[in-house]
Amino acid sequence: MREILSKLLDRDLETLNIIHKEGQITKKNLQVKTGMTLTTLNRVMKSLEDKKLIMEAGISESTGGRKAVEYGTAQTGAYVIGVDISRTYVKIIIVNLRMIILKEEKFYMDDSFSPEKTVDKITDLIEQKLLELSISKNEVLGIGVGTVGPLDRKRGIMISPKNFFNKSWSNVAIKEMIEKKISIPCFIDNGANTAVLAEYLFGKGKDLKSIVYIHCGIGIRSAVINDGIIIRTMNDSEDAFAHMIVDSNGERCICGNKGCIESYSSIDAMIKRYNLRTKNNNNNNANEEVREEEYKKVLDLAMRNDEFATEIVDKGAENLGIGLANLVRILNPQLVILCGPLIKNYKRYYDMCINTFHKINYLNNAVVFSKGGGFKEDAIAIGASLMVIEKYIRKDRD
Ligand SMILES: [Zn+2]
Repeated sequence: MREILSKLLDRDLETLNIIHKEGQITKKNLQVKTGMTLTTLNRVMKSLEDKKLIMEAGISESTGGRKAVEYGTAQTGAYVIGVDISRTYVKIIIVNLRMIILKEEKFYMDDSFSPEKTVDKITDLIEQKLLELSISKNEVLGIGVGTVGPLDRKRGIMISPKNFFNKSWSNVAIKEMIEKKISIPCFIDNGANTAVLAEYLFGKGKDLKSIVYIHCGIGIRSAVINDGIIIRTMNDSEDAFAHMIVDSNGERCICGNKGCIESYSSIDAMIKRYNLRTKNNNNNNANEEVREEEYKKVLDLAMRNDEFATEIVDKGAENLGIGLANLVRILNPQLVILCGPLIKNYKRYYDMCINTFHKINYLNNAVVFSKGGGFKEDAIAIGASLMVIEKYIRKDRD
């Protein structure tokens, strides 16, 4: 199937790409979108049907005229695997070209999960799931990995991701390791970029031109997509926005500068500040699970009007709002999706951030905010699988 796709002509790719994005579409609408003559379109569609890439998928709703057949991508014969490698867990999904999740699996990582052990577990699970679904490796277009930057994306290397429990996550040639083990092509990007791709193509950003995705958790991760093109940061890091300076005399950030958004608005920063204020230094070596607990404690206190905690959470949300006003002014996006545990669990943080944004957004951009994305916790893995499909069916793929 990989070979079939790589040999398609441009007009075949264009048609397949439209059918994939639309989900279901009539021949008439396809003709409008492609501008092809009916004879050419018929020839293209016959060729795609013969190759089992598209099929009749339903009948369109009658709008006064005759009902028409709708076409969609094939449900069998071609599959993609999406993998979300975050700091504390790995999620694997297997989807077909309709983006229907056929299988999914998730496991958590403790400090024994070296890159080797993690890759072994990922590839073993993929083999097992493919077997359960009776899918052969030839039918898998590729494995997309959404992970933690900074990256050497082209070579598939995770350069120096922070906060993995196991300390050997440095210069990990994840693409090569996966490909060697399982003999399926692998592509990587940072998780924020794959998530924004999912939201842009099929989620909250569908039919929009420009969207921003911000994940507020242990760290602040962000991604931007404009006209289908992901705006690339240096080394494909997802923390470029996090290190925007909002107070040049402010708190010292982990990057060495002072007053970055990250040093106020992330879970990590808020816990550190709270512990410093309350002289609670018992958790210097805390692992992620402890910190999850810790952050709940601080934020729950804020909800109950603990003075220190409230101040810290409010300051974090306020500085995120200031950063967002700067970002929106530069990029002029139509939509900003805010998600992650801080957004999901703490209304006060979200409200304060949005209020600050509106207070200082003197240009009155017509930007819309979305609390959470369309794919919720699956966005990174779905987007990782979409990244693979885009490699095959988009003409301007990079
Ligand atoms: Zn910084």
